[in-house]
Amino acid sequence: MKLFAIFGDPVAHSRSPLMHNCVFKNAAINACYTRVHLQDGTKLKETFFALGLSGANITVPHKEAAFAACDEIRGFANKVGVVNTIINENGKLIGYNTDADGFMFSIAAFDNIKDILIIGAGGTAKALAARFLQDGLKVSVLNRSAARLLYFKELGCVTYDWKNFELQNYDLVVNTTSAGLKDEELPAPLEMIEQILENTRYVADAIYGKLTPFLQMAQAKNIIYKDGADMLLGQGVLANALFLNNTLAKDTIKRHMQKSFKL
Ligand code: NDP
Repeated sequence: MKLFAIFGDPVAHSRSPLMHNCVFKNAAINACYTRVHLQDGTKLKETFFALGLSGANITVPHKEAAFAACDEIRGFANKVGVVNTIINENGKLIGYNTDADGFMFSIAAFDNIKDILIIGAGGTAKALAARFLQDGLKVSVLNRSAARLLYFKELGCVTYDWKNFELQNYDLVVNTTSAGLKDEELPAPLEMIEQILENTRYVADAIYGKLTPFLQMAQAKNIIYKDGADMLLGQGVLANALFLNNTLAKDTIKRHMQKSFKL
């Protein structure tokens, strides 16, 4: 039996085991997917091999550590330096990023998106910013602290920290911070979020499984929003295809994986 896992801190909230096991069970694949609470990201590689894993997903806060741990990086992950899926290929660790395409999948119904504000400047923000720029969209990034913004500035984004933010009109605002994941915090000060929400058509949050305070405010203002569940499904389908070495069609994976959202 092949064994897969998700690494994160925290990781107890993750739906990935349910999603991937649903595919394995329904497609009669001899594999199992579990979770690993990893506090020290530098221990990722040795833990992965010690557990005899065939592949894994990586969540907050270890995606940059996962990039560093890989022997080879393929595709979009090379562009962003962030890895959310790793595969054991003959004892070598191969890294991929399926988050950004998963997100594009989730906002397919949002029309005429040209101008996007990303809140947060971590691994998810990096992947999304690079993916949006690839499609020729205008991307602004707002983060609590200035230190992580240089990367985005060099990429071609407009960047702000909480002290120098200048309000614009946006088509879409995406929360990629972990504010609201384990707490009831907003991703930026209340007044700033109020203004931002009054100047956007759509809102999305990478967090799933709960209506974050940020999405609660968007809902109260009748703004169309998506939580992270569709993004999660999209990245999961692409990761599962990699786990199974593309032996199962993505539509089939998606059909099986969607069942896990009803459990
Ligand atoms: P990182 O740890 O790489 O980045 C976290 C970012 O959040 C940083 O910019 C940090 O700011 C900011 N932040 C953290 N806490 C707060 C707070 N209280 N107020 C304001 N800003 C804060 O995380 P990831 O990018 O890997 O993940 C971010 C979120 O996205 C997580 O909640 C994760 O679960 C979710 N996610 C969901 C996916 C899905 O499929 N739906 C896929 C990937 C991620 P600073 O630089 O100042 O520290």
